[in-house]
Amino acid sequence: MTFAELGLSPELLKAIAEQGYNTPSPIQAQAIPHILAGRDVMAAAQTGTGKTAGFTLPILQGLSQGDKVRANQVRALILTPTRELAAQVADNVEHYARHLPLTSTVVFGGVKINPQMLRLRRGVDVLVATPGRLLDLYQQNAVRFQQLEYLVLDEADRMLDMGFIHDIRKILALLPAKRQNLLFSATFSDDIKQLASRVVNNPIEVSATPANTTVSRIEQLLHPVDKAAKPALLAQLIQQNDWQQVLVFCRTKHGANRLTKFLESKKIRAAAIHGNKSQGARTRALDDFKQGAIRALIATDIAARGIDIDLLPQVVNFELPNVPEDYVHRIGRTGRAGADGHAISLVSAEEGKELNAIENLLGEHLPRSIITGFEPSLEVMPSRLRAQPKKPKKPKAAKATTGRTEGHPPRTDSKPRQGQQRTAKPAHSTSSTPANQPRRSQRRSTANASSNNQSH
Ligand code: AMP
Repeated sequence: MTFAELGLSPELLKAIAEQGYNTPSPIQAQAIPHILAGRDVMAAAQTGTGKTAGFTLPILQGLSQGDKVRANQVRALILTPTRELAAQVADNVEHYARHLPLTSTVVFGGVKINPQMLRLRRGVDVLVATPGRLLDLYQQNAVRFQQLEYLVLDEADRMLDMGFIHDIRKILALLPAKRQNLLFSATFSDDIKQLASRVVNNPIEVSATPANTTVSRIEQLLHPVDKAAKPALLAQLIQQNDWQQVLVFCRTKHGANRLTKFLESKKIRAAAIHGNKSQGARTRALDDFKQGAIRALIATDIAARGIDIDLLPQVVNFELPNVPEDYVHRIGRTGRAGADGHAISLVSAEEGKELNAIENLLGEHLPRSIITGFEPSLEVMPSRLRAQPKKPKKPKAAKATTGRTEGHPPRTDSKPRQGQQRTAKPAHSTSSTPANQPRRSQRRSTANASSNNQSH
């Protein structure tokens, strides 16, 4: 299957070739012909599947055949949950549209509204927006929807998690009833099904696993450790394994700030990225991280969502997430583009419940490895974390990072290297579908929910 066989125009094929893509990803191959045919589409797909090009390319093709956009009007609206994802999608749109006479822009909160109002004045063919700022702009008469032909809800599950449902309902009420709708979501909970019933009309359903089935290519390992010792353990792991680019997940903004300061005090260049940071600071941190100017990016779940960094080698869960699905999203940041990824979790006794939920979701028992010098105090450890480090057979192997993994001998390499302590067989997902993909039965019931919807 080639992009040309999907029915895309020469201008789009040129832009695709310039991007270096040879073959459509599964979600692209499935979705593009239906979108070109004018159907509503509901897609189970997360970041890493090529979903952005999957909806952007056919929309651009459709728009290039229609009327010219009028002042303050928008012909395609793409809603995303976060500023970072909005900026990323907008970059994609701009790239794919480079050989077409179409305009696009992006609007999100946290930055001045006036320049955004100016950019909307002459109308834009494609507008990428976060819901709150879009409503602000509407209230200020900066944007109108009479010419709207396409609506995309990208990462719809995350939009609901972030409490955007009321904003989305308000936006839906402003749009013309006759339009083409595309809904992308990693999961299909009851809430998403309910939202879908208001958005899509007799949709085609497609689903895709991330490129190279993300979860199965990621080596996962868990280090039991006391909560108070986690910062020191992280600093040691970064230094001894010589990690040059590590994404670290924290549960709270304050925790992220504290950890950043601690790593800086250990001469490890780090930056925090979370909702309290200005847009400028977030963009700068991300750019510095991508370019290697900082080694550790400390992120909360929401800030990290959708960030697309090619070949991110190492993810660390400094704390386990409350929602088990977020574990899969987090570790999905690594192991991109066919490369193997490594995900390490630092788990303290207090996190037994969260660990249980994650292992139940994965259907796997994650391999444990206790790092010498960071043994957790046994009296506070729940039974499932009690993995006592046994004495290594060869004393040489007992370097600080060469902890022992349950039931497996330690590595005896004299030179530490990345992933050194992953001596246990990694917990590969046996399924070709990531753990957070909707189950078949869920998808079917989504179809039922959406087939009898009429309301827009
Ligand atoms: P997305 O799921 O849209 O966030 O895309 C994930 C990554 O895959 C991005 O870095 C895209 O540039 C890349 N990508 C999208 N489509 C293709 C393709 N057909 N072939 C190779 N890479 C792609």
